[in-house]
This record gives sequence, C-alpha cells and structure tokens, in this order.
Amino acid sequence: MSQDSRVILARSRVRQVADFPKPGILFKDITPMLADAEAFRGCIGWLAEAVRPLAPDVVVAIESRGFLFGAPLALALGVGFVPVRKPGKLPHVTTRVDYDLEYGSDAVEMHSDALRPGARVLVVDDVIATGGTARAACELVRRLGAEPVGAAFFLEIAALGGGALLAPIPTVVMLRD
Ligand code: AMP
Repeated sequence: MSQDSRVILARSRVRQVADFPKPGILFKDITPMLADAEAFRGCIGWLAEAVRPLAPDVVVAIESRGFLFGAPLALALGVGFVPVRKPGKLPHVTTRVDYDLEYGSDAVEMHSDALRPGARVLVVDDVIATGGTARAACELVRRLGAEPVGAAFFLEIAALGGGALLAPIPTVVMLRD
C-alpha cells in the first residue's frame, strides 16, 4: 500500500494542527488534500477499489467531513448515499444514538426510513480516532434493520484503537498515522 503513489500524494497533503479544537488534540486537517484535484481523485479512486469487494448497496456517511468522502465514493461505486447527521438537522422522522468521542460527547441521527431492511451498508467518515462516532453510525444502521458490511476512512489515528472498537466489521483505511 505504501508504494501506491496515490497514498504518498494524499499523505503529503494532510496538515497537522496542534491543539485544535482543544489543547492536546493533534488535528488532521484534510483541506489541503481536498484542494488538490489529483490527490482528491486518487483518494476516492483508492477507496473505491478497496471497498468494492465488500459489495455495499449503499454508502452511509457521517456529518460533516464524512460527506466529502462518502458522496463521491457512492458515485464511484454506483450506489446511493445516506447521511448521518447531528441531532435536529434531518427534517423527517429520525432514529438517534448517543456516543462518546475524543473531545466530548455527541449524538447522531438518521432518517428512520433511509435504509432498506437487509441492505449492505458501507459506513464512511474522514478520520477514525476513538471509533465512537463510526460505531454509533453502525448501531444506527443495525437499528434500521440493515447490515454494516464495512467502514471506510481516509485516515486512522492508529494509536487510539478505533478500528478494534468496530470489530468484527472490517475497516478500510487509506492512511494510518
Ligand atoms: P472518533 O469518534 O473519536 O473516532 O472521532 C471521529 C470523528 O471526529 C471524525 O468525524 C473526525 O472528523 C473527528 N476527529 C476526531 N479526532 C480528530 C483528529 N485528531 N483530527 C481530525 N479529526 C478528528
């Protein structure tokens, strides 16, 4: 994987910002990667190739940076896109899961009718840190009667062990830091 020029380019376009949004957090700023068309295209292409064997029917992505990866990935895979949002943002009837994250606690919601029962779902976010957000999204998927068949992230902060929190759901990660 590390020999893939797309991985090398993407890694060079992630900026580390110390003490954001709180002291002690080393924030992974993906905006330079998004601003570089070749790096962004390479990222979505890499992720699409990596998740295709999971044969998802739908991509579920997490507000808000997850949308930046989930929407183009859904188009590349030829499947639909369903948003997971912070409370109070979705207009129709919603289902909610509360969770802890690296800096604070939060909750996520989905439209209760967003997934076909039994659908094979790929959960997508930009970064996996503790894994709490993605695990909450997987729980939402299950509550709606669908199956999380995998989770894909642009970047994993490996020291925080988020991938293990999602087990046995397989995770696909382009960059491990
Ligand atoms: P977690 O639930 O701890 O896995 O946190 C994942 C969510 O928080 C993702 O939506 C990330 O966008 C964001 N996040 C957490 N830690 C960081 C970090 N160090 N750099 C960038 N984003 C982060």
